[in-house]
Amino acid sequence: MFRRKLIWQLFLSFIIIIVLSVAAVTIYITRSLKEFYLNEMSYELQARAQLIKDNFADSTLLQNTAVVDSLCKNLGKQSSSRITIVTLSGHVIGDTDENPAGMENHLNRPEIQKALGGGVGMAKRYSHTRGEMMLYSAIPILINGQISGAVRVARPLSALDKEFSSIYPRIIFDCIVLLFLAGSISYYFSRRFSVPLEKMTQVSEEFSRGNFQHKLSPGNSIEIDKLAQAMNRMAEQLDEKIKTIINQRNELEAVLSSMVEGVLAFDLNERLVNLNKAAARILDLDGVQALGHYIQEVIRHPHLQAFVKKVIHDGQPMEGEISIQRNGDRVLQMHGTALTSEKGENLGALVVLHDITHIRHLENIRRDFVANVSHELKTPITSIKGFIETLRDGAIGDSDDAARFLDIIARQSDRLNAIVEDLLTLSKIEEAEKTEIPLELGSLKYVIQNAVDACELKLKEKNITLTFECPEDIHCQINKQLLEQAIVNLLDNAIKYSEAGGAIELACKSSNNEAIISVRDWGIGIEKKHLPRLFERFYRVDKGRSSELGGTGLGLAIVKHIAIAHHGYVGVDSLIGKGSVFTIHLPIAHISDNT
Ligand code: ADP
Repeated sequence: MFRRKLIWQLFLSFIIIIVLSVAAVTIYITRSLKEFYLNEMSYELQARAQLIKDNFADSTLLQNTAVVDSLCKNLGKQSSSRITIVTLSGHVIGDTDENPAGMENHLNRPEIQKALGGGVGMAKRYSHTRGEMMLYSAIPILINGQISGAVRVARPLSALDKEFSSIYPRIIFDCIVLLFLAGSISYYFSRRFSVPLEKMTQVSEEFSRGNFQHKLSPGNSIEIDKLAQAMNRMAEQLDEKIKTIINQRNELEAVLSSMVEGVLAFDLNERLVNLNKAAARILDLDGVQALGHYIQEVIRHPHLQAFVKKVIHDGQPMEGEISIQRNGDRVLQMHGTALTSEKGENLGALVVLHDITHIRHLENIRRDFVANVSHELKTPITSIKGFIETLRDGAIGDSDDAARFLDIIARQSDRLNAIVEDLLTLSKIEEAEKTEIPLELGSLKYVIQNAVDACELKLKEKNITLTFECPEDIHCQINKQLLEQAIVNLLDNAIKYSEAGGAIELACKSSNNEAIISVRDWGIGIEKKHLPRLFERFYRVDKGRSSELGGTGLGLAIVKHIAIAHHGYVGVDSLIGKGSVFTIHLPIAHISDNT
């Protein structure tokens, strides 16, 4: 559709109206003028006829056609008009332009009929005699009060046209001036209408770009002014509403993105309409790219797909669990609910994914731990019970057997006691971890020395040489008693798993703001595959050997938890048959830290 600018539409409309109006007025005026002139002319012809008629009011004269005709010709020339004398019977007896003998009877001429009837006859007609349009005026010739004929005076209408031909250029000139003036005024008013609308269009475009700072200035008419005010108000309200929506969206996004749980929203067509960072991370999706895609395109887990579809179609809350592959096996708990509008219409489904891998792992550890504890406790208890039964059944009578069985019972009781002691220690440290165990600034050398002293007897028993090196100035925030126990545990293991006459190296050094306590032995060593699980409770490389050596399988777990309670960590490196090195890493404290 062809569209013009408003200013030109208005201007064109004005111009069309003006041209039509001017044309109508011009036509009307011209016609009125013509009529006026025609009337004037007929009055004038009538007046001439009145003046001339007395020249023919003589019955003798009317008998003499030649005199009448010559009189007509003379008078006609003088008055520049055509004079015709007609008798009562309609015969022409005198005419300015023609020979009356050759002229036809004029009784049928309307102006002649009127004049012979006593009135004033008027007519406008084409004259075959003159070959042009003529205006005729006829009056009766009265002789002694009796109508004796009619005198007709005529003038060609071309005289009127001549008069008008001088008026037309003036009329046209006036019209052009009028048109020019009216056109200028129209252009001015068209602009007055269109300029505010153009400004409104520009400002509306700014509004549509979200730029509400622009304001419309008051208009030059009440309606435009009201429209400008309404648009300004609308812009303010829109600005406020958009800001509110943006704030709400930002808040929602902040809440969603700070959630640990993955949140996914689907519409009824199973298209992903929203997801938070956690969901993208859990499902390995590109958050922005995935939006708007169908569930089959973005989610590769058939169980999750089926779950979402069921929630969408049933509209009922649902729960489920799936395991996915991402950095190993991960267990996800799924909660699905229907997404509903304020009116309660079903819009789709909302699915929340909760990574419960850690919880499941903890549950497994707890389950294993309970099983392990039961098993560890059961072994010495079964043994004790067994030997007591044997003693009861008569072995108590044999003093050698009785002494041997009592020794075993005593050893198993010590083992039981050791397990319970270690379990209590572990649980105390774990409890203390939660509430932060009391730490104080202390020198590591002093603690290490105490641990070495505590192991001296065992070292001597196996004739193991211990080299010990620790600078005086390494200080950490420590719980002396616990740290000493951790070092004793490591030394104890090193002694247990070294050959008699072997060597152990205990060292302490600082590196990268941490103190590293290391216990190295050249004993049996550990296979690489055991290293990651070595610090788990009850984990033992060789169960028989450990029990034989009086181990509980809790020593390294205690070391690990003591290190954690000191905001540190543990490490191990070992080669089977070559020996092992266990390390405790603690953050170094500078002397000012104590203040
Ligand atoms: P245990 O009381 O059995 O020694 P730990 O928790 O102290 O329990 O140690 C766990 C397991 O780690 C031990 O059973 C043993 O197999 C292995 N282990 C610990 N320290 C050493 C070491 N210095 N040399 C070889 N194996 C070790």
